Amino acid sequence: MKNLTPILILLAFFLCCDSQVPAGFKGASVYRTANFRIHFHEATYNSQEIQTIAQKKERLLQRITNILQVDFNKVIETYLHSTGYVSYAYSDRPEVHETRYYVEEDNGHEIAHIVVFDKLGYNSSQFMVEGIAVMLEYNRLDPITTFQNLFAFNRNCYYSMGHGNTIGSRFLDNTFTGSWYEYKEAGAFLYYLSQVYGIEAVKELYKAGVGVSKSNFRETTEMVFVEIFDISFKEAETYFVHTYLHTVIGHLNHCLYD
Ligand SMILES: [Zn+2]
Repeated sequence: MKNLTPILILLAFFLCCDSQVPAGFKGASVYRTANFRIHFHEATYNSQEIQTIAQKKERLLQRITNILQVDFNKVIETYLHSTGYVSYAYSDRPEVHETRYYVEEDNGHEIAHIVVFDKLGYNSSQFMVEGIAVMLEYNRLDPITTFQNLFAFNRNCYYSMGHGNTIGSRFLDNTFTGSWYEYKEAGAFLYYLSQVYGIEAVKELYKAGVGVSKSNFRETTEMVFVEIFDISFKEAETYFVHTYLHTVIGHLNHCLYD
């Protein structure tokens, strides 16, 4: 076994370092800031663009860590793809992949995922994972965004009523399917909790669902919810729908009262 060690180390090196460069990024250019290493192709982005993109990312990160009240000192490996319409963040390492379409609209959603995964872990509920990222997005006009979130909730209720599908089931039973409305609904609900109870309470709720199996999620979360917020999940959900949303958007959510 002893004389296999150098071979294993060499093998580990190749496995490690080969997988660190995603397909299509060998020999790509790199732009480095305090918290980002941006990999890009010069045929797609010029140096002025990359500088602007990098500065924006630093500002978005700063804003997210301020809201979350955390320190984040890691470097996020950021791969800018030339084509496509998707973006994603890894949950086990600070690495994001973004296409040009996303970069132009970048509101920090993927950065938020990275910071949350690193600082709080990976919550078992997709509602929570996406909701907290949506809550941390930067949008220039906050009231409008809030309105859009809530309007999305309103639109969502048309089918959610029909299916008896509430925030509770999407969150606690993991029936979240990843539609745009569900993203906005999750973001709006967590935003409401953070506004009323503070960011530390939302972080606590998030952390309570890390590593919890899907079959135990509802029971665990409902129990923890009362401890953190001093009201039941159902009461918070009802208040959010019938009072908070109603105050903000008035008649638009009337279908929720039917
Ligand atoms: Zn996301």
